[in-house]
Amino acid sequence: MLKAAIYAGHTAIQLSRGLLEEGIGVTIFGPKDRLRLYERFPALRVRLLNYNGPSQLESLADEEHFLVLTGGAVEYLTPAVVESSRIPVFGLRELVRWEADWGLKIRLLEEARIPAPKWFRSVEEVDGLAIAKLPGAKGGRGYFVTRSQEEIRGWIERAVASGLVSSPNELFLQEYVVGTPIYAHYFQSPIMDRLELTGFDIRYESNVDGLRRLSPRNIGELRESFVVTGNLIVYPRERLLEDFIELGERFVEATKRLIPPGIIGPFSLETVVTEELKPVVFEFSGRIVAGTNVYMLGSPYLALYWGREITVGSRVAMEIKMAFEQGRMEEVLT
Ligand code: AMP
Repeated sequence: MLKAAIYAGHTAIQLSRGLLEEGIGVTIFGPKDRLRLYERFPALRVRLLNYNGPSQLESLADEEHFLVLTGGAVEYLTPAVVESSRIPVFGLRELVRWEADWGLKIRLLEEARIPAPKWFRSVEEVDGLAIAKLPGAKGGRGYFVTRSQEEIRGWIERAVASGLVSSPNELFLQEYVVGTPIYAHYFQSPIMDRLELTGFDIRYESNVDGLRRLSPRNIGELRESFVVTGNLIVYPRERLLEDFIELGERFVEATKRLIPPGIIGPFSLETVVTEELKPVVFEFSGRIVAGTNVYMLGSPYLALYWGREITVGSRVAMEIKMAFEQGRMEEVLT
């Protein structure tokens, strides 16, 4: 049986537990200072590997590992390395590139006919509350909300000058939708040929969540920022579940049409639910999201498919095991 390689951080603990329980060996790799955490937990029987560059991914491939796509893999290995490596990937490898490119991202959401916020091709088009975003899985870091074109121009200059991006084209300007953020998590199973709803979370962010603890008179010059510090559980109203499932299904079908064979395994649609009870999808992640850590003891929604609460980490492991036993590994690895 193959072994799993997981980049240190993000959902490494959840994934490792699930994989180990299903008898799949795990190597967590990353910079030395990131590995220390995993040494502290004796029941987490993983191999730890000090990551020293892309060639190590090839060595992991030679040692019969597959890579589990995570936010850490995308952000720290970089999409280019993930795409060009020989290591088999659990998930849709090509989607990493779509996720890192705002143009492709919009194309996929449009193909899926999913309600999404307006987006602006230039600063001059901004005609209301807008959010300016950086590329990649940076956990909200560096985002900026404003109504002012002038302020956006300043922000773009600073982002380029500080090296956060190499060109203004990498930045993205989107309508800021007022409502409650709800992040929906799914698992697309090629082996069962079905979409499973796995759960929901809300991000807990500095300073946007901290600011509401202060009265307006104390907020003064402080600005919203969206650095993720943790995740909270949220249970959407039951009447919203059908809407969320349909959005997930449309997304899966769009990936099948544009990036065959389509998405494999966990993914997330990041939504704001408006007062009309409409989820508006402002972002997606084509791999496991850290928000699934909120049900580290098992997902009550996955229990509706499997009869017991399991984590997304376990669900990943079950898919790989079923694929292995049925000789269908090529359907879950790309
Ligand atoms: P992201 O990193 O894209 O998931 O977004 C980081 C934060 O910005 C989250 O708290 C979102 O709720 C918020 N956000 C991002 N895009 C939008 C949008 N278009 N409208 C409202 N909030 C947004």
